[in-house]
Amino acid sequence: MPELPEVETVVSGLRKHAINLQITHIHASDEKLAHIAQMTDLIGKTIVSIDRRGKFINFLLDDRRVLQIHLMMSGRLFLRHPKSPEDPWTRFLITLTDGFQIRLSDPRRFGLVSVLSNHEYILFQHRLGPEPLSREFTTRLLAKRLANRKIAIKSALLDQTIIAGIGNIYADEALWHARVHPETPAGSATPNNLKRLHRGIRRALKEGLEHGGTTFGIYANAVGQTGNNQQHLNVFRRTDKSCLRCRTNICKVVVGGRSSHYCPKCQAK
Ligand SMILES: [Zn+2]
Repeated sequence: MPELPEVETVVSGLRKHAINLQITHIHASDEKLAHIAQMTDLIGKTIVSIDRRGKFINFLLDDRRVLQIHLMMSGRLFLRHPKSPEDPWTRFLITLTDGFQIRLSDPRRFGLVSVLSNHEYILFQHRLGPEPLSREFTTRLLAKRLANRKIAIKSALLDQTIIAGIGNIYADEALWHARVHPETPAGSATPNNLKRLHRGIRRALKEGLEHGGTTFGIYANAVGQTGNNQQHLNVFRRTDKSCLRCRTNICKVVVGGRSSHYCPKCQAK
């Protein structure tokens, strides 16, 4: 699933082109999304800004409503010239004033599209945890978010209401940077653990951003290029390969239903 760095990469690609353009046409080839395509009152609205919040993509419109897209497992958002060949699995398509199209290509069809009122958008913002790359996200805030929680720290990092935007890849990478075992109870992390984890989260996400995101299967940015952060991962999907820090073999354990990769020496329990 695309995580913060991948979604941010898509958003910055869209932002370069689509701001201040009007929606002239909406089409859904998937029944699940037909109700949104039928909202003809979105036509003529101008895209004022495109923001990422957690793993959500938000098109803020000039009437203060928000067209929101979540890519889920396999969604990709492409910005395409009207004459460029059709993208397979396109479920939803927006045409802009200059003819360019934003296409949601989504083979597994789990991606979500919705339209939020301004009030619903404010409530949505409050439901999500803080943005880990924002200035407000300090070690102190991280400590507060994790305090008294008995769940595994890995599961806490994946909980979007605790911190927004982190998924399986960057959680494993952050814990490796921090030298924290994924099954450590979140509320029992020491001040030192928290300090390293805060740094580790930001480092893992920034590395992902610098490398244009991680592509293991389908992820691509708004112009269809894959990321290359998969070549720079320290621990994720490196089971039985040697730790880049201490050469011990990387292990895999299931935490909260998700595979978690860690170094048994650097990240001892
Ligand atoms: Zn190690």
